[in-house]
Amino acid sequence: MAVKGRFAPTPSGRMHLGNLFAALLAWLDVRSQGGVMTLRIEDLDPQRTSLEKAEQIADDLRWLGLDWDEGGVEPAWCQSNRGAHYEAAFEKLRDMGLVYPCYCSRAERLAANAPHRADGSVVYDGRCARLTLEEREALERAGRRPAWRLRVPEEWVTVVDGHLGPYTQYLPRDCGDFILRRSDGVWAYQLAVVVDDALMGINHVVRGDDLLPSAPRQAWLHRVLGYRPPQFFHLPLLVDKTGRRLAKRDRDLDLSALRGQYTPRELTGYLAWLAGLNPEGKSVEPAQLISQFSWAKVPKTEIVVGAP
Ligand code: GLU
Repeated sequence: MAVKGRFAPTPSGRMHLGNLFAALLAWLDVRSQGGVMTLRIEDLDPQRTSLEKAEQIADDLRWLGLDWDEGGVEPAWCQSNRGAHYEAAFEKLRDMGLVYPCYCSRAERLAANAPHRADGSVVYDGRCARLTLEEREALERAGRRPAWRLRVPEEWVTVVDGHLGPYTQYLPRDCGDFILRRSDGVWAYQLAVVVDDALMGINHVVRGDDLLPSAPRQAWLHRVLGYRPPQFFHLPLLVDKTGRRLAKRDRDLDLSALRGQYTPRELTGYLAWLAGLNPEGKSVEPAQLISQFSWAKVPKTEIVVGAP
């Protein structure tokens, strides 16, 4: 089966070096196997994202020399326009009895004596799954609008990552019942990403390993909805010299600053050097890296970044 991969940026700001690193490797993974590259815009949250920022991301990708065969900043490829697909999947899950309304506020969830994951997030304790009909009706009468959660089973799920190897979670302990739709109606990333990867025929997902903890629930959700999960490839995060992950707040490493300082070939050379694909760090075009690309060369642990 032909490889089909994607870039799936959230247009909430300018890309930074880490986003571009993931984009380059997703592109090389596809191009080195003669596959199909797609661009999907993950603009679910109208408060945080905009089409203008999506256009900027597309422009930054092209500037570096990365292209795509399908998708782009077009309605059919923007999650903000794909609600009908998420609704259909949601209804299917609801018909299976897997969905329940959750009235907890953020403060209530944090205050609950729930286990915290390594990244500081909270595993939901499932309290709203146990509400009686009367209790639900009372909350509705009091004007509380629910979010909608998916009930996870007592299952161990192992994802065999194409780069990092096996990764296992026990869903009730490590994931917990997770949100499909927020109380303000916005669809959750976890549902949208699974539905879109499935409907778009994506079979290779290359992204940063901050999303590795989401992979088991996504693989499980693919199966529940009758889809085949994609092959995941998670990349080590780029960190600064103090070990802190690069983020949008590091303005000196965003594309606006980088485009002012480096040529696309210099920046590609640096990214490829970080990826273990360009030992001498020379300037190159993405297309020149295709023939030497191999996952075996790419580091598996955090990559420390200085200035390019
Ligand atoms: N939209 C997500 C991000 O920009 C990526 C989601 C994914 O690759 O699954 O971080």
